[in-house]
Amino acid sequence: AIEMQQVCTRFGDKVVHEGLDLQIRRGEIFAIVGGSGSGKSTLLREMILLHTPDSGTVKVLGCDLAGVSDEQASSLRQRCGVMFQKGGLFGTLTVTENIGLPLREHSELDDASINDIAAWKLSLSGLEPESASLYPAELSGGMLKRAALARALALDPELLFLDEPTAGLDPASAGGLDTLLRDLHALYQPTIVMITHDLDLLWQVTHRVAVLGEGKVLAVGTMEELAKLEHPIIRDYFDGARG
Ligand code: ATP
Ligand code: MG
Repeated sequence: AIEMQQVCTRFGDKVVHEGLDLQIRRGEIFAIVGGSGSGKSTLLREMILLHTPDSGTVKVLGCDLAGVSDEQASSLRQRCGVMFQKGGLFGTLTVTENIGLPLREHSELDDASINDIAAWKLSLSGLEPESASLYPAELSGGMLKRAALARALALDPELLFLDEPTAGLDPASAGGLDTLLRDLHALYQPTIVMITHDLDLLWQVTHRVAVLGEGKVLAVGTMEELAKLEHPIIRDYFDGARG
């Protein structure tokens, strides 16, 4: 589903990616881990056309992002759902209106159908129907993340990107997201790419994990495989972090 080859990214003197290679298979639940500032969010932004690397190749759903036309970019955006770290919902719109936004933009559906779909995505994301008419400011942190997930799911994306879906949540609010993502994946097998430090998500939900460090992918594998590696950065990362 995603192929990155020899990706180099720099911000001024700061080298973030230095010849990074990464392959994510169709239908897999894939996680990216790595220390703060290791370039995880930037990598994700490069997969969704929000940032262009200085060199290297990024292919998403068979499309080389370097040469995409506006038309191809729009079609790619339609096939990708993104849940941003801070939610990214519009404060002046209700939850239902936020979820309906991508549907209004990319489909010809009437209001009634859009509201029906929004209600369905809301329940898929584990929110009560009563949240539908609330504004983002009226939601708790956990509800906000779920509303952002519901919006990411609006167009049944083939590719779902989640930037730290449980960060900043207490265990009670974060709890349930593991089964929710597993159920969602069982429903229609989207490819899921998430950035997370959540050991429960890493051990219970993801198929494979990439460890970022030194501008590269240091290792890729199942959690069981990575936990056995002797590389110091990986060992640090997994120290005391056994699920
Ligand atoms: P965190 O775990 O803290 O979220 P991260 O792995 O997601 O970190 P990135 O956000 O990708 O890291 O940032 C990688 C590095 O690139 C950081 O040093 C950051 O300051 C820098 N950086 C990211 N975006 C920009 C930008 N638009 N302009 C300048 N520097 C940037
Ligand atoms: Mg980040």
